[in-house]
Amino acid sequence: MALLQIAEPGLSAAPHQHRLAVGIDLGTTNSLIATVKSGSAVCIADQQERVLLPSVVRYCEKGRIETGYDALRAQKIDPLNTISSAKRLIGRKLEDIPAAQLPYRFGDNGRIIELQTRQGAKTPIEVSAEILRTLKERAEHALGGDLVGAVITVPAYFDDAQRQATKDAARLAGLNVLRLLNEPTAAAIAYGLDNASEGTFVVYDLGGGTFDVSVLQLSKGLFEVKATGGNSALGGDDFDHRLFCHLLEQNQLSQLNEQDSQLLLSLARAAKESLTTDNSSTIQTTLSDGREISYTVTRQEFQNLTQHLVAKTIEPVKQALKDAGVGKADIKGVIMVGGATRMPQVQQAVATFFGQTPLNNLNPDQVVALGAAMQANVLAGNKNDDEWLLLDVTPLSLGLETYGGLVEKIIPRNSTLPTARAQEFTTFKDGQTAMTIHVVQGERELVADCRSLAKFTLRGIPPMVAGAARILVTFQVDADGLLSVSAREQSTGVQAQIEVKPSYGLDDDTITRMLKESMSNASDDMAARARAEATVEAEGLIAAVKTALELDSDLLTESELQNIQAAIFAVEQTVQTGMAADEIRQAVATLGTATDDFAGKRMNRNIQRALTGQKIEEI
Ligand code: AMP
Repeated sequence: MALLQIAEPGLSAAPHQHRLAVGIDLGTTNSLIATVKSGSAVCIADQQERVLLPSVVRYCEKGRIETGYDALRAQKIDPLNTISSAKRLIGRKLEDIPAAQLPYRFGDNGRIIELQTRQGAKTPIEVSAEILRTLKERAEHALGGDLVGAVITVPAYFDDAQRQATKDAARLAGLNVLRLLNEPTAAAIAYGLDNASEGTFVVYDLGGGTFDVSVLQLSKGLFEVKATGGNSALGGDDFDHRLFCHLLEQNQLSQLNEQDSQLLLSLARAAKESLTTDNSSTIQTTLSDGREISYTVTRQEFQNLTQHLVAKTIEPVKQALKDAGVGKADIKGVIMVGGATRMPQVQQAVATFFGQTPLNNLNPDQVVALGAAMQANVLAGNKNDDEWLLLDVTPLSLGLETYGGLVEKIIPRNSTLPTARAQEFTTFKDGQTAMTIHVVQGERELVADCRSLAKFTLRGIPPMVAGAARILVTFQVDADGLLSVSAREQSTGVQAQIEVKPSYGLDDDTITRMLKESMSNASDDMAARARAEATVEAEGLIAAVKTALELDSDLLTESELQNIQAAIFAVEQTVQTGMAADEIRQAVATLGTATDDFAGKRMNRNIQRALTGQKIEEI
């Protein structure tokens, strides 16, 4: 869970203590790991100089496990024990996925998806953990030491269960998760947009099998995902498939065996990739029955064939803009992510739609991992300058003490940063000229159970009757996690304010404990809150009746006076002896009834006083 302020300026690690931290793009098809070396983010390659690790795991005989290219190669011969695309299953339930279409034997323990393999039942968490473990070992081997932690990216639309499951996978792989980061946010960080960029950006991510679009709002280094959309069954593979079908038509090929189909499909893919840079590409091969194939496809022809696929990506873009409540013209930049965005027709379509050239100078396969590595580097404390972390939410609610020791929450927990909220308060006593603002943090109802952050006093409130003053209290948490609270009396403009670092010194465990306590004490807290509210009401009424008696008790007969005094005493007793809210309210109601006539008489007298000496036409 994010803390409001994680790094204290000036306390980050010195350069010689460089701590090994990595960013991991745990992808559906491929995964990557990156780190920051000498100030720049780079992807870490395996011993064969390959950066991509296919996200495939094979459970072999005798407890052996293969990952990456080895597992990918075996997929055809050992499909039941070779798991790919675990990301589509992680954190989901069996009923959420099209299990019948997948080539696995699913087990159902009613809670979590299980895949039956020759090594027993495996969950998508365990499968993902194998990918992460391979990447971790790759990095430790390349960097020559243990990793202090990793930032792992997840799609912006991942829900809590999917995020938690990803974290569990990392833990299982022996990784310390510094943070999960949204993939589009990571891409924006890689493009340096966290440095002083403001505005709305679009991340267009066309991978091998999925298309994701996100609308990001950036402000002072803070990212908010405004909307997401996409198509989970649209990607570069569809372009391969379209070209493959065209090859079949042009060469009058039908009923190809599995081997020939696979061969042509991979040639179609290679041709697609070469057409990104070349104007034409020739597919040449001999099929298993001896037939020779030679077909030259031009870039223009390929673009015509796949036009409808490109157009299909624009629909979700329009929808995401609509959901985010922004127009094309509001978009400051478009970031291209995913290998399939290399295709010139995709670049062109995006440029035409947005009326601007997209950001594409980083490797679109690596951009998410690179951004994650940059974030990991900061989180691990490797930056010397007074670097603040990217923050996304407030971990606990922020509020202030109101009369009766109660907490009024102003900024609820999990609010996206930066955030500001204001609320009006008023005075409790007649003639009150000062007000103490006590800022607290926590989920509980009573101040005594929350964490006190700061206190300050607003002075110079003009004397007025209780409840007449209007004091606007504003809470603001900025990008650096600094909370500032200001209080302003609205009629005179007198103002006081304070700055606080709300969660400094509050670690994850403390936050978790505070949240747990708030849940387990919820019903006691509600009773205490009700009691405190009834007490405030009772004390307010007693004060008002006593003032009235001082001024106008001559309007009452002796027995009426005694009656009211007895009712006041009864209310005081319920408060002082700690009775429940209902009993206090009951006594307050009795006092109210006992003073009804008195209130009427006072009103008559006040009207008479107001009218005395005035002419009828002046009224
Ligand atoms: P990703 O899932 O981001 O790794 O993207 C994989 C997809 O990008 C696959 O469909 C690849 O064929 C495609 N791709 C990779 N390089 C190129 C390229 N040079 N031109 C067109 N598509 C490419």
